[in-house]
Amino acid sequence: MTIRARMASARQSSNLADHPDKLTDVSVLAAAGMVATREAVGMALLRLRDSMDRHEWTFCLSAVAARVRYSLRDAKDKPSEREQHDLAELILRSWLLPVCPACQGRRYQTVPGTPYLSDAACHPCRGTGVIPVDHGLQGAARDAARTVAEWMDCNAHRAAEKSRGKVYG
Ligand SMILES: [Zn+2]
Repeated sequence: MTIRARMASARQSSNLADHPDKLTDVSVLAAAGMVATREAVGMALLRLRDSMDRHEWTFCLSAVAARVRYSLRDAKDKPSEREQHDLAELILRSWLLPVCPACQGRRYQTVPGTPYLSDAACHPCRGTGVIPVDHGLQGAARDAARTVAEWMDCNAHRAAEKSRGKVYG
C-alpha cells in the first residue's frame, strides 16, 4: 500500500480507540502530522531568516525551545527551564545571524580608539567573522546547540526544496 493510500484509509477509520488493531492508523496520521509540523517550522525559519519577518519569531522560538528540551531530555547536567529557554534564543539568534559579536563580522581586531581595523585577526572568531552556534557553551548545552542547529538546517533545507517543487513536484 502506498503512503498516500495508507493515509486515506487511516483518515476513514472511525473510533480508533475502540480498535487496538487500528493503532497503526494512529501512527500513520501522527507521522503525517509531524511532517506537516516540520515543514511549518522550516518555512517559518526561512521566512524569519530571509525576510526577517518578525511575526515568525515567536513560533520559531517555541519550536526551537521544544527541540532544545527534547534534545536535553536525558542530559545528566540538564539546565533549568529558564536556561533551556535562553539557550533556545541563543541558538535561534546565532542561526539567523552567525556574525561574530567582537568584530561584527569584519574579521580583524579594531585598532583601539579608532574605527580602523588592525592586521591582527579577531580572537573570538579566529578571523572568520562568524561564530559557531556552540561558541562558549559546554557539556549538554553545547551538544544540544549543535544538534538543534543541524535540525534547523535540515528543516530549512527541506522547506526550501519543497517550496521549489523539487521533492514532490
Ligand atoms: Zn570576530
